Amino acid sequence: MAKKQFKAESKRLLDLMVNSIYTHKEIFLRELISNASDAEDKLAYKSLTDDTVEVKRKDLKITIVPDKQMRTLTISDNGIGMSKEDLESNLGTIARSGSGQFKAGLAEDDKAADKIDVIGQFGVGFYSAFMVADQVTVISRAWGSEEAWMWQSDGADGYTVTQCEKDAPGTDIIMHIKASGEDENYDQYLETYKLQEIIKKYSDYIRYPIVMEVEDYRRKDKPADAPEDYKPEWETVKEWKTLNSMVPLWQRQKSKVKPEEYNAFYKEKFGDWQDPLAVIHTSAEGAVTYKAMLYIPAQTPYDFYTREYQKGLQLYSSGVLIMDKCADLLPDHFRFVRGVVDSADFSLNISREVLQHTRQLKVIATALEKKIKSELLKMQKEDREKYEKFWAAFGAQLKYGVVAEYGAHKEMLQDLLLFWSSKEGKNTTLAAYQDRMPEDQPYYYYACGESVDKIAKLPQVERILDKGYEILYCTEDVDDFVMKALGEVNGKQFKSVSDEDALPQTEEEKKAAEEKAEAGKDVLEAVKEALGDQVKNVRVSSILKSGACCLSADGPVSLEMEKYMSKLEGSDHP
Ligand code: ADP
Ligand code: MG
Repeated sequence: MAKKQFKAESKRLLDLMVNSIYTHKEIFLRELISNASDAEDKLAYKSLTDDTVEVKRKDLKITIVPDKQMRTLTISDNGIGMSKEDLESNLGTIARSGSGQFKAGLAEDDKAADKIDVIGQFGVGFYSAFMVADQVTVISRAWGSEEAWMWQSDGADGYTVTQCEKDAPGTDIIMHIKASGEDENYDQYLETYKLQEIIKKYSDYIRYPIVMEVEDYRRKDKPADAPEDYKPEWETVKEWKTLNSMVPLWQRQKSKVKPEEYNAFYKEKFGDWQDPLAVIHTSAEGAVTYKAMLYIPAQTPYDFYTREYQKGLQLYSSGVLIMDKCADLLPDHFRFVRGVVDSADFSLNISREVLQHTRQLKVIATALEKKIKSELLKMQKEDREKYEKFWAAFGAQLKYGVVAEYGAHKEMLQDLLLFWSSKEGKNTTLAAYQDRMPEDQPYYYYACGESVDKIAKLPQVERILDKGYEILYCTEDVDDFVMKALGEVNGKQFKSVSDEDALPQTEEEKKAAEEKAEAGKDVLEAVKEALGDQVKNVRVSSILKSGACCLSADGPVSLEMEKYMSKLEGSDHP
């Protein structure tokens, strides 16, 4: 039978897996168990929303069977299963989520060697099976279907899919374990003690029982008619044992969770390969009871500023997933936050529509928003370097947040903003700016332009700097809107250096300016005539110091806004 070829990126990832010199090959088990758990989740979820699916949660489990004779290790689940098409599309190409990000990283050929280090630090998924197996067989029956299909591959040269038999829905992943060699002791992956150890290490919190038949050496019961000189007898018994404690990380006590555990959970669950910048583990009891574990990522997801990116937190009800991305738990300005919320206050089969309007959801969302803000403020104060990293990744989102909904969220966000300071030569907060303000400074000053260098050379800037005042140099299109939306912070207004009244004039100064205008009338007329339609007006300005002229806009729309909006036209920017 003809073998089908893997899609190009998959082949590359597969090559990396097969030839991986990565020392933590054991993570393959974590990956396959996590897939099995996802499959159980999907079925459990289906049963909540679809009356025809009768599944008892307590029957869902993951089974591990090592077979030393055959050199196989089998991981079975009774979850949602895969159809023939699913097998082809899920295992023949790299799936979206976790491995999709890896795909992005794989783009540069020459970096492949470095990437090997990355493997195992985050979810690389199904293909990691090839780190320890020379042949992988997947037998699967999709829920609701009578047909079963077998996917088989011995690595990079393709795979086959054939029909087969399977009694019940679910998936078996059968790995033929490689022969031990100098590079690795593969035999250990057939030993129950080793498998128990790995599962405890990486998959302890998986919410379905992971069971395996293990041998126990123990004392026989003493027979009732035992003679006086009875010596205890020992025997070896085989029994099925649940290997994981099934307590999700967020249910554990904060003080008992190690930073590595928080980070490993994040990377696996959200498919990132960098540690998060911060984790917020919080809970509340009372009117609404919940536990939440939130993460601030260190890097912008590749699709963050596209329509594809979906915000939201995973919502659980007493450990059971009820929604994967609950958007209403996060305000747009914090849409980069990833995490889980677990609350017994929601019924398992609550519909999206009803959920949206529950009071509890709003209460939780409001509380979390405050938590996120205070965590970010803490980072800003205690670890500025980290905060700058955060700002580089998500600062733009916070600025959009200030502008959105007519500035409804500016109070929430203003303390988190950073702007380039003319005085400091680096980013500053508004609070720090205000602390440095001379007493007579009437406004927060800002100037917009393409780059800090170009702004510094603007003629309008000079007279403000000469006064000893600090200017916020704004280089992003959205900045001018941000300043307008902020309006006033701590009793001081924002003023563009290009505003005619940026520096308040005394009566005398005003009079002098008027006289100047009168005197220069003829020159102005001449300039106006020469420029014709290109300008609306030419006037004498008090905003210049040594510069001879500058452009400005009349009316409420500034020059920068005009530029921004003309860019928006014709683009599909939101
Ligand atoms: P990810 O889990 O990040 O999506 P994987 O490479 O681990 O990527 O898995 C690819 C896809 O294959 C999964 O998204 C899922 O659709 C499917 N899959 C893998 N294992 C199973 C399983 N045991 N049961 C059902 N579907 C599975
Ligand atoms: Mg996976």
